[in-house]
Amino acid sequence: MRWVRFRTPDGEIHRGWVHEGRVGRVHGSPFDEFEREDLRWPLDEVKLLPPVTPSKIVCVGRNYAAHAAEHGAEVPSTPLLFLKPPSAIIGPGDTILLPPQSKRVEHEAELAVVIGRRGRWIPIDQAWDYVWGYTVANDVTARDLQRRDGQWTRAKGFDTFLPLGPWVDTEFDPSDALIMARVNDEVRQTGSTREMVFGIPQLITFISSIMTLEPGDVILTGTPAGVGPLRDGDVVEIEIEGLGVLRNPVRAEARPAA
Ligand code: MG
Repeated sequence: MRWVRFRTPDGEIHRGWVHEGRVGRVHGSPFDEFEREDLRWPLDEVKLLPPVTPSKIVCVGRNYAAHAAEHGAEVPSTPLLFLKPPSAIIGPGDTILLPPQSKRVEHEAELAVVIGRRGRWIPIDQAWDYVWGYTVANDVTARDLQRRDGQWTRAKGFDTFLPLGPWVDTEFDPSDALIMARVNDEVRQTGSTREMVFGIPQLITFISSIMTLEPGDVILTGTPAGVGPLRDGDVVEIEIEGLGVLRNPVRAEARPAA
């Protein structure tokens, strides 16, 4: 099943499900009991919102060897974690803003895992039971600030730096899916999710040994090689085969007048 959050033409916000280009409401909790309504709206008549509202977004750096190599970095011996704030999230079609503080903002195509059960110290042989589903993410990064700061909160944390969507697919198979980034229809990144250094069960076990994972929390699993710049007027698409396409326009953000 493909879960969305959406706004109807008369401005109401609902959880819903998507099937064959149409959307219907869902009542109840996706993590517990729920009931589906009929597929009342064509997809292009509603506004899709970010499909989840996580308490935290845990990200993994250098989890594809070819991407670590393009920055001259070693693959770490344990997962290299950082956080993005929930305020960075935008939905499909929303605009990525290039902040005036950076001269080099880049796309990072990533598979996002969405957690479905609360857990701490999750054993590796139970890790899959804690996955609710998967969505597409763009871990937008101010590369110049990332290099300058030595840690990544500012570089990864600007508003609009986490496009997510278009939906959470609870049946997607993440074992060997093609992952791509296109800018203005030109392919920039390609890889397969099978190339991850640390797999999804290892990441869930490792992260939950540090912090409690909550239903709706998001894990970004790292990006393959080919990251590159985003410029004012670009349109960036992240596609994961069998899961979906996440498309966002890019604009320069003006510094507010003093
Ligand atoms: Mg990343």
